[in-house]
Order: sequence, then C-alpha cells, then structure tokens
Amino acid sequence: MEIEERAGLYIYSDTQLDKEEGERIEALKASSQQPLPDPDRWLDEELRRHILLTSVDAVLNWARRSSLWPVVCFPACCAFEFITTAASRFDISRFGMEVIRGSPRQADLMITAGTLTWKMAPQVRRIYDQMAEPKWVIAMGACAISGGIFASSYSVVPGYSRIIPVDVYVPGCPPRPEALLYGIKLMQDKIAKRSIITEV
Ligand code: SF4
Repeated sequence: MEIEERAGLYIYSDTQLDKEEGERIEALKASSQQPLPDPDRWLDEELRRHILLTSVDAVLNWARRSSLWPVVCFPACCAFEFITTAASRFDISRFGMEVIRGSPRQADLMITAGTLTWKMAPQVRRIYDQMAEPKWVIAMGACAISGGIFASSYSVVPGYSRIIPVDVYVPGCPPRPEALLYGIKLMQDKIAKRSIITEV
C-alpha cells in the first residue's frame, strides 16, 4: 500500500484505500451469489425414505392376491395335476398359496379339479357358500369347464359354472401344472383390479 508522509504523519492514499475497499466488496459479492440452502431440505429426504403413497384398493388387493387360501374340490383325475402343482417342482407357495385349507370357512379360492356329478353338486354348492367373502373359483380342466368327455352323460354337471360362479377357466385334459399356475396368475390379476367401493 502506498503511504504518504505529510508533516510528520503517515497518510494512506485515498485512492489506494478506495481501491482496496472496492476489491473487498467485489470479493464479498462474488462469494455471496450462491443460492441459500433450503432449511427444509431434510424434510424431503425423510419423506422420500419413509412415506409411500398408494391407495387402499392397491394395498388390499395386494394382500388378497398374495395370500389366497385355496380349498380344493378333487372329484377326479385333474386332482393329480393340482397335487403336482403344489409339490416342490412347481411350488405353488411362490404365489402365497401353500396354505391349502380343509375347511371352506378358512378359504377364499376354490380350485375345482375334476368331473362333477349331479349327486355331488349340492355339496359343492354348500362348500362354496361356506367360504369366506370375497371368494373366487378356478375351474381346472375340461370336465370342470364343460363336463369334458362326459358332458353328455345324464349324471355329469356340464361345467361348475352351472352350480357356482367361476372366475378363471384353465383348459386341458388334464391341464399341466404350468397351465394351472398361469390360471392362478390370471386370478391374481383379476383380484388386483377390484375396488372396495364396488364391493359394498
Ligand atoms: S379334464 Fe380330463 S383329466 Fe381332468 S377330470 Fe376330466 S377327464 Fe380327468
């Protein structure tokens, strides 16, 4: 800094002082141009980590389709394909369905696997009536869909849909386990589209 000496006093140059002050102000201005940090920024991070927005329908349908408890109606040979589906190779428990119930009151899905005779029809209807709401039915195999090769018999019901409402049909005589698993996936897709407003 330039210093002048006048009458025994040391005088700082006005020009020099102004210049230095100007430089300090410019430096301060330059360092103050950054945007101020948002004091509520932590709130956004908390929300992103801990809050999930969804609808009641989505949660309810997810829970229902992921924990179907089947009761099985096994009157004929399609039953063996269902048993295979439940065994380790095809592993129905991957879909949350391994809890196969002996009581219709603890079940919400009926899988019909086999030929139904008129003599058995009232019992099947009664089992269906005793199941918990909401409930669904998968008709497995040609006999369950239409009576199959026995459709013209005097004693055979030409399809479970004559007795109870059927949601998904799985064709075949018998259908392979992959076909039944595909039918179960369709059933789950159907459940995912339900709304509690239309249920009431
Ligand atoms: S569809 Fe075929 S395999 Fe299934 S119950 Fe009827 S006859 Fe038997």
